Parts: sequence; C-alpha cells; structure tokens
Amino acid sequence: MKRIVRIFACAAAFLLLAGCASGEKKKAEAELYAMDTVMDLTIYATNAEEALSAAQEEIYRLDGLLSYTRSDSQVSAINRGAGGAVEVPVEVMDLVSTAVAISQRTDGAFDITVAPLVQAWGFYTGEYTVPDKEALDEILPLVGSGLIRLDPGAKTVELEKTGMSIDLGGIAKGYASDVLVEMMKDRGVSSALLALAGNISAVGTKPGGDLWRVAVRDPRDGSAYVGILSVSNLTVATSGGYERYFESGGKRYHHIIDPKTGVPADSDLTSVTVISQSGTTADALSTGLFVMGMDKALALWRASKDFEAVFVTQDDRVVVTEGIADRFEFTGQSGGYAYEIASR
Ligand code: AMP
Ligand code: MG
Repeated sequence: MKRIVRIFACAAAFLLLAGCASGEKKKAEAELYAMDTVMDLTIYATNAEEALSAAQEEIYRLDGLLSYTRSDSQVSAINRGAGGAVEVPVEVMDLVSTAVAISQRTDGAFDITVAPLVQAWGFYTGEYTVPDKEALDEILPLVGSGLIRLDPGAKTVELEKTGMSIDLGGIAKGYASDVLVEMMKDRGVSSALLALAGNISAVGTKPGGDLWRVAVRDPRDGSAYVGILSVSNLTVATSGGYERYFESGGKRYHHIIDPKTGVPADSDLTSVTVISQSGTTADALSTGLFVMGMDKALALWRASKDFEAVFVTQDDRVVVTEGIADRFEFTGQSGGYAYEIASR
C-alpha cells in the first residue's frame, strides 16, 4: 500500500502566517490507499506523528472489517453466510443497524443490500456490463433492508435469503471518519483535516484559528469547483455519479444504483454534498439523497435537524440549504451555474 508520510515542525514562516501558537505544534501528513480509495490525513498537534500513525492503523483495521472485496472481512463473512445468522463484532452489527435505519429514513434509496446489483453492473471488478431486464428481475427480490435480521443479544446479522449480500461502501468511510474524529479528541488534537476521499472531516480549526475550507467539486469539470464551505467540527461528504462510471453504447452508467429499479439512479442531481456532525450520517445520506433526487431530498432535509446540504442539479443550479448558506461561498458562476438557497 502506498504510504507517504511527511512530518515537519512549524517553520518560522508558518508560525507567522498560520499562528502556530505554542510553537510546538507539528504537522503530520499522510496519503494512503484504503477502502478502495485515496485518503489524505493532515494533523497539527504536538503529538501529530503519533496521532497520524494511530489514525492510519485504525483505517486499515476498519478496512479489514468492512471491506466488500476482501474475503477475510466481517462483511464477507456475513455475505458468505447469507441465508443464516452470522456472529460478528458488535461494532459491525451496530454499523449494519445504522445503515438499516438510514435505509428506512431514505425510503429505501440508501440500501446496503444493493450489492448484488452493484456486482451485476461490474463495479467491483471493473468488468462492466449492462445487465438485461431478466437478470435484474432475478436480483431485485434479493434487495431490501427489510431482509436483514439483527439479533443484538446473539450479536448476529442474518441476510434472510441466499444470494443476498451487503456492501457498506456508501457508509464505511463516514463511519471511519467518526472513529478518527473521536481518536483525535482523545488525543487532544484540535486541528486536523481528514479527507477519506469524498468524506472530509474538519477537526477544530486550522492551526491559526481560521475555519477549514472544503471545496465542492464541479461534477462537470474535475478541476473546477462550484463553491467552498468554511467549516469546523463537521464532516462534508459528497456523492455523485461522476465519481465512478463507465460508458457503453454512447450511454453513461454510474455506480450509485437505485435499489428499486436496479439501474444507476436516474437522478436530477449531479452531486449531493451533506454536511453533518456525524460522518456516518453525512456519508450514507449523500448517497441516499442522490438516489432520491432533488424534491424528495429537500423534503427529507426539511423534516430533519441533523444535516445541511449542497445540491448540484442536472440543470446547472447549485442549491444550498439555509442552515449552511452563510458558510458557503458560491464560485460556480464561471461554470454557468445559478445559485439558490433552499429555505425550511
Ligand atoms: P458513495 O461514494 O458514498 O456515494 O457510495 C457509493 C458506493 O455505495 C457504491 O460504489 C456502491 O458500493 C454503494 N452503493 C451504490 N448504490 C447504493 C445505494 N443505493 N445505497 C447504498 N449503497 C450504495
Ligand atoms: Mg456515501
């Protein structure tokens, strides 16, 4: 696994510019590949080096538990045992339980039992195919969080039907970010930016006390962005069809599948960014809201208190929910985007 670690003490210039108050805070930074993606961790603390290696170890541990593709993971054990109950660590059962709750909350738009569909489209192997209707009709009865049975006493997860499988890919990075944020708190770290691909947790502030700035990408142009969020102690999670897709017969097929139809979500959104104190919520909801589409996503936001969102629509609007609007700097004019604030 690729691992680059750079550690250096606050240089004099840095001290002046960023206000590295104690003069002892160090910066430790790592780029690593885990959970099928690239992660960037940046920590400013007196104990930055120790906090960074602990964070990296934790990511690898969680990848080992939660990976769909690794045969030795707990998720693979659950999937191999489909049709029966499989005992798992409480942590895994709790995350599955949270995923089921978010599935209910999103009316099935977010659903970890989507795995056989993701498999059918070839997203796990990269051997992409467009499954025909018959193939999808065979798989759809295996999809639905109502078919997951949890027994907290016995610590078991049961997928009711053989052939079922679960994929925590839409929630695991968010969960990992929550675990890492707790680790930072335990270590007294008050300045860190933990970017687990599209799940970015801002711990505290920048070393000088300024808010962390997290860009929201332009889904149509990988090198541009539609705006910048200024945040502290929040996770910013983005889901979009542009992140992973293939083309066949002149059509584009992306990796976020509508569990009801079995095909890539035909969304009026090109990306959804969810901002929440809970990384788990931000990650799962960004995936779920993308499937739901603008109207249902806004309705869910209006009925909720635990997240804000930035939507980028197919018709070139950037819609920001009012609770985060004053923290959002719109820069999408140059990309031809219009700006709107959604009110409660
Ligand atoms: P994210 O990048 O967080 O939006 O998650 C996308 C990943 O979650 C996909 O690559 C699949 O592994 C999985 N996934 C796809 N569709 C769904 C869905 N409707 N609900 C939950 N997970 C999904
Ligand atoms: Mg997600």
